[in-house]
Amino acid sequence: MKTSRPKPRAAASITGACLCGGVEIEIDTPVFWAWHDHSEPSRRAHGAAYATYAGCWKSKVRITRGEDLVSTFEDTARKQARSFCSCCGSPLMFARGRSPKMINVPRALFGGRVGREAKYHVAIDQFQDWAYLGARAGPLKGYPGVSIEKARKVPPAKAGLFEP
Ligand SMILES: [Zn+2]
Repeated sequence: MKTSRPKPRAAASITGACLCGGVEIEIDTPVFWAWHDHSEPSRRAHGAAYATYAGCWKSKVRITRGEDLVSTFEDTARKQARSFCSCCGSPLMFARGRSPKMINVPRALFGGRVGREAKYHVAIDQFQDWAYLGARAGPLKGYPGVSIEKARKVPPAKAGLFEP
C-alpha cells in the first residue's frame, strides 16, 4: 500500500507596519520568543514605560516595503542598533550585540498574533512604578474617551495588610 507523505506546511507569516504605513515588515511565525524590555534605552527609544518585542531569527524577518525609509541609530556604546521609520519615527527593529542572530521587532507593529505570548522580561528591576498594571478604570465625567483608574476598595480589616 502506498502512503503519501504529508505535505510540508507552508510557513506562516504576519505583516506589520509603522504608523505611516510606509514600512512593512514580514516575520515568520511563531516567533522565537516575545518579551518585555524594561531597560532605560528601550523606554526612551519607544517613549513608553517599557517596550515589547517579538524576538525573531534574522533570517525570518523581511522588510517588504519602504526599505528606503528605514534609518538606523547605531548605539555603539551599548553595542545595539535601533531602526526606525524616517517618516513617522516608529521603532522598527532592535538588534543587540549579545544576540547577533536575532532581530527584535516591536510587538505593537502587528495587529495579529505572532505565535508567542509576551511573558518574558528583561531588566525587570528597572520596572517603572508609573506603568499601567491593568487596574479597573471607568469613564472620566466631562472628558469623552478618557478613563480614570478607580480607587481600590480595601476592606478595613485588610487595609494596611502590606504595610511594613
Ligand atoms: Zn512610518
